[in-house]
Amino acid sequence: MNPTPICPWCGSTEVVARNYARKAGSVAGILTGAVAALSGPRIGTPRSVVSVVVTSVLLGAAAGCTTGAILGSAIDQNVLDNLECTKCGHVFGPSSPA
Ligand SMILES: [Zn+2]
Repeated sequence: MNPTPICPWCGSTEVVARNYARKAGSVAGILTGAVAALSGPRIGTPRSVVSVVVTSVLLGAAAGCTTGAILGSAIDQNVLDNLECTKCGHVFGPSSPA
């Protein structure tokens, strides 16, 4: 999709993506999904409610993680300076003028 990023400061091609927002989004999504699952309606008899809750939390966390990662990736690519030069430490965005 994108050509190999080049550091606008030193010209190095040894550039890594930081993906901070994607990681943060995954964690936030896990928490949000788990909380949403816990606050949702309880289904089942008292005997099975524990397993239902556990399953709900796991499903909610998984869904939240996926959603958070997708949202975070979009933020990384469009908003944040997501690229870091490993040679000089310069941080810049994919759309930054070279
Ligand atoms: Zn550099």
